[in-house]
Amino acid sequence: CRQRAQHGTATAAATGHTPALTGQESLAESDPEMWALVQKEKDRQCRGLELIASENFCSRAALEALGSCLNNKYSEGYPGKRYYGGAEVVDQIELLCEQRALEAFDLDPAHWGVNVQPYSGSPANFAAYTALLQPHDRLMGLDLPDGGHLTHGYMSDVKRISATSIFFESMPYKLNPATGLIDYDQLEVTARLFRPRLIIAGTSAYARLIDYARMKKVCEEVKAYLLADMAHISGLVAAKAIPSPFEHADVVTSTTHKTLRGARSGLIFYRKGVRSVDKKTGKEMLYDLEDRINFAVFPSLQGGPHNHAIAAVAVALKQASSPAFRQYCQQVLKNAKAMAQALLQRGYTLVSGGTDNHLVLVDLRPKGIDGARAERVLELVSITANKNTCPGDKSALTPGGLRLGAPALTSRHFHEEDFQKVVAFIDEGIALALDVKSKTSKLQEFKTFLLQDAETQQRLAALRQRVETFARAFPMPGFCDR
Ligand SMILES: *Cc1c(COP(=O)(O)O)cnc(C)c1O
Repeated sequence: CRQRAQHGTATAAATGHTPALTGQESLAESDPEMWALVQKEKDRQCRGLELIASENFCSRAALEALGSCLNNKYSEGYPGKRYYGGAEVVDQIELLCEQRALEAFDLDPAHWGVNVQPYSGSPANFAAYTALLQPHDRLMGLDLPDGGHLTHGYMSDVKRISATSIFFESMPYKLNPATGLIDYDQLEVTARLFRPRLIIAGTSAYARLIDYARMKKVCEEVKAYLLADMAHISGLVAAKAIPSPFEHADVVTSTTHKTLRGARSGLIFYRKGVRSVDKKTGKEMLYDLEDRINFAVFPSLQGGPHNHAIAAVAVALKQASSPAFRQYCQQVLKNAKAMAQALLQRGYTLVSGGTDNHLVLVDLRPKGIDGARAERVLELVSITANKNTCPGDKSALTPGGLRLGAPALTSRHFHEEDFQKVVAFIDEGIALALDVKSKTSKLQEFKTFLLQDAETQQRLAALRQRVETFARAFPMPGFCDR
């Protein structure tokens, strides 16, 4: 690649004109302000303990594809059927990504296809609904406060919040508050009354496995599609560390940046071939999902695919098919279990009592504190986690729970004993939060006190220092300097 920056600048200096835009200056040269912010964020990621269950650290290889010339290419349409010229290379990239997506989940191309163009998980879900449903058709998903996702439908008493509930009619199913497990019996009863055309099996804050077979049975009875949204767990599914939804679902959606460790993007898998056989006539009914899903993604909802993201997802999917990735996912499960065990030993209560996947949901209410206060104190000592509702919670602003995930730190080669240390740090943070809570009243006062009380500031700084010294010692995927 010819670097013409020097030439352009010299010519401009000689003639007194403004130098031409070469686009070849580095970020550090071209925009020191933004470069400094990227450096700051890199440092934050390296010195902190990342426990947000949906986050992970993308590989350098995938980030190289993401930050490449592929960003420049328009290619509306699908491989071989584009609305723009010059798409021969991005055609190969998209086909390779599709092939790797099917391989990563052990899918037979005769029975499953995949659309790799969704910009992220939420657009993937909306495209899947657009393909499967008419406006105002009915769907059911796990309620947001019970561990579902916004895109599975969410409305308050006075307002439809998610577009899923604006354009379709959503009915939630819930956890059994006594066990913290999905209440499949209630789901069945509600589905018989509500008669949804689609039921969504998927969670964002649920520490147990999903009974897809049970949900498929309900779907068959009420003639609904089963859509599995495996956004959080797709890496674990690819690694065969937990049961796969593909055996039962008609459509499977996913993000690619959570346990899958790729670039931020989305996937929609759909069934092909025979859907059912008519008992009387013996006539085979075929799935017609391929055209409907592809049409929903483009032209119905999206424009040009993000070829740079598709390439980076392909890179991640290749890695996700490797023995090293399977080992990574096994370690994620071991680490989540070690974290659960250490929390229980320190007297914490876990929603559902433990974990079978990559996260734990801590019910802080028996400790006398809430998720919002805990989240804030942990943030101030460089431990990132998020507050979460627990079954029975009244307020979403001060919910009783804290969601803790193992995927990101496992990507930094944390093992079980490291997670015991992480829990010890969390426990110190919670003790500090309890102390400050006893000296303050409202959440706002609590937050102000944290920043203004001199002794508290000292305690926070001391704990933060120990957390950061500990965290910095671990390796970090991605580029060294950004
Ligand atoms: C994260 C998530 C999504 C949405 O993904 P975005 O990329 O944030 O749009 C959808 N469904 C579930 C279950 C998720 O956890």
